[in-house]
Amino acid sequence: MKNLQPTGFDLEPGVLIIQWTDGNRTAHDMGILRKQCPCATCRAERDKIESPKGLSSLRVIQSSTPTVARAQILQVLPVGRYALTFHWNDGHQTGIYAYDFLLKTTISR
Ligand SMILES: [Zn+2]
Repeated sequence: MKNLQPTGFDLEPGVLIIQWTDGNRTAHDMGILRKQCPCATCRAERDKIESPKGLSSLRVIQSSTPTVARAQILQVLPVGRYALTFHWNDGHQTGIYAYDFLLKTTISR
């Protein structure tokens, strides 16, 4: 298996571009990345939202949180040789995004 590493980043409004060691460039929707934040806090939030016990009206309100819709990455920091962490415009920065995960969330432009 290839050991892909990012070699550079482009922070566009709402879109993160990653340049990889194999020469590929991948685009990632920041709104999707923010919503899928893998940290424990966000995972617990999502579990609450997806809980079948929750009221449907409550779910709708929570899933359209404005801060999520306007998510913007301010800074990208490497975590070891396997992941990245992002500083978001809402102050959040505890999510660790493994390269494997990022490569599964690419968008075409
Ligand atoms: Zn999080």
